[in-house]
Amino acid sequence: MRIDRQRTIVAHPAGRLLISLVAGFATSSPAFAYYFQGYYAPQVLISPMRDDMMYTPVGMGVVTSKAGFRIHPVTGKGDFHSGVDLGAHLNDRVYELLDGVVTRVGWRGALGVAVEVYHPYPNVRSICGHLNAYSVLPGQWVTRGRVIGYAGSTGRSTGVHVHYTVIKEDTNEYIEPMKYLSTVPKYVQALKTARVRAAISAKRQQMEHIDAKATDSEKEDLPEVKKPPKSPPPPSVEPE
Ligand SMILES: [Zn+2]
Repeated sequence: MRIDRQRTIVAHPAGRLLISLVAGFATSSPAFAYYFQGYYAPQVLISPMRDDMMYTPVGMGVVTSKAGFRIHPVTGKGDFHSGVDLGAHLNDRVYELLDGVVTRVGWRGALGVAVEVYHPYPNVRSICGHLNAYSVLPGQWVTRGRVIGYAGSTGRSTGVHVHYTVIKEDTNEYIEPMKYLSTVPKYVQALKTARVRAAISAKRQQMEHIDAKATDSEKEDLPEVKKPPKSPPPPSVEPE
């Protein structure tokens, strides 16, 4: 373990060393580890992400719990998981995967500390939850590879992970996150075309009014789960 850490320090520049030290300290005192710091640490990062590859917000990532788009058969709720859970270590960098405008940061009930980003193309919102801290503010334009926060275990969480939810902007419907992630490289390509760029710059201007402030709330403020359609209504019978 110690040898590994030393190797890490040798292999990486000072920034990485600092993170290793912070992580080391946090590991030795769990109370500190799970405490929401709420700081704003601006950081611009040129990521090593390839445009044509699929990533999760924590890089490659391991799915620890899938998004469940099901209604509990008995209670009618409670079995619903709005996103996918990705395994992470405390203070792992959480990356933005697609260009967009930060629409909300801060405490969000069971989601803990969350960052929400609106992506004008393809017109969806993505939310990363249970973060230890965020490193962007509302109104900020973020691009692929930008660090938007750091992994944690805030909110209703039993261990460090990143919860990732994707919502269709117009209809408030949940999108299967893994399916979305697999399509992101195509969106990245589309973002390079003049037509999409023009559409996005128009949308950006509309969103310039957003206050650069965190919002702390005890509510998750997620869209209600759309219940699956019941069996089709019986055909109307015309009176004879
Ligand atoms: Zn989750």
